[in-house]
Amino acid sequence: MSIEIDHVNKHFRDFIAVDNVSLTFREGELTALLGPSGSGKTTLLRIIAGLEQPDTGRIRFHGEDTTELHVSQRGVGFVFQHYALFKHMTVFQNVAYGLTVRPRRTRPGKAEIRDKVMRLLELVQLDWTAHRYPHQLSGGQRQRIALARALAVEPKVLLLDEPFGALDAKVRAELRRWLRRLHDEIHVTSVFVTHDQEEALEVSDRVVVMNKGKVEQDGSPEEVYDNPANPFVYQFLGNVNRFRAGIHAGEARIGDIRLPAPEFHDRRNESGLAYVRPHEIEVYAEAVASDTLPARIELISVVGPTVRLELRTDAADDLVHAELPKHRFHALGLTQGNDAWIRPVQSRVFLPD
Ligand code: ADP
Ligand code: MG
Repeated sequence: MSIEIDHVNKHFRDFIAVDNVSLTFREGELTALLGPSGSGKTTLLRIIAGLEQPDTGRIRFHGEDTTELHVSQRGVGFVFQHYALFKHMTVFQNVAYGLTVRPRRTRPGKAEIRDKVMRLLELVQLDWTAHRYPHQLSGGQRQRIALARALAVEPKVLLLDEPFGALDAKVRAELRRWLRRLHDEIHVTSVFVTHDQEEALEVSDRVVVMNKGKVEQDGSPEEVYDNPANPFVYQFLGNVNRFRAGIHAGEARIGDIRLPAPEFHDRRNESGLAYVRPHEIEVYAEAVASDTLPARIELISVVGPTVRLELRTDAADDLVHAELPKHRFHALGLTQGNDAWIRPVQSRVFLPD
């Protein structure tokens, strides 16, 4: 089931929450809706679900206009950040709920419900919890049960709004890999809302980056990371250094470093900035060539296997952050206060239009 968002707008009083969004979520794909808090992700998800009506625009499921259709008619399953399971019901009863409340005509028989619930519990690898109550489960287990419950009614579309947002980092990382594997098995068209770029990049087939109610970019995780459409996307997807840059005659300059930039020949690069990520900055103990920038190490911090440096250089207004493996840093023999030389990895410099 593909989902088409066609010129959708939604405002609350004078605030524009969704600003003329057009998008297609493709059949069988897991798409991440990624953006900072307040960018309109939840509002868009609720419009897809039918919990919210757009001011203008249409929603189509597999080509069929569902804009006016009631939420119960759309065949969507939800998982929210705080999806309260029914506390007084066992895990089994929670997952069975959507089937047992169906009108008698369409309600499956008891044995059929039992088989189905047990299959879903196996799918989320929690069949051994069937007779437990929600309070006897961890937060991560509860979210997996919430997912099983959403899947029980065989939704055509699965909508997940920051489903792991309330869990700690380690459990979250486990659950998103688990969700990826689960999706590879069931292939239901899914939209996964998150404000965490790592989560979006790791879990999804496609990433839609939102900001202030608008879509900034729509592409594969590699596309949005390697070829950001604009500085917002670049900065939202990871840590950033900004160097002052000049672009003249097919060449970008950062300090004395010249980068061939033929494709930027006609562009103005109005910001006059070049962006480089911390792990894409090489650090040297001496000037290895003419194309390194002199710098001074202001701060060294060791974070597990990685060393993070803060360096002062004339080519940037702010301190430059560099990140390298600990063993490589130690081989340089540098300490705080030393001079060092840095060079952005040429192919990874981002020059916006
Ligand atoms: P996100 O999920 O990306 O954090 P939301 O879609 O929840 O963003 O909200 C986008 C903006 O719309 C927010 O500034 C929020 O305050 C506003 N908003 C959302 N729902 C309502 C509502 N029911 N009434 C008024 N403002 C709302
Ligand atoms: Mg939200």
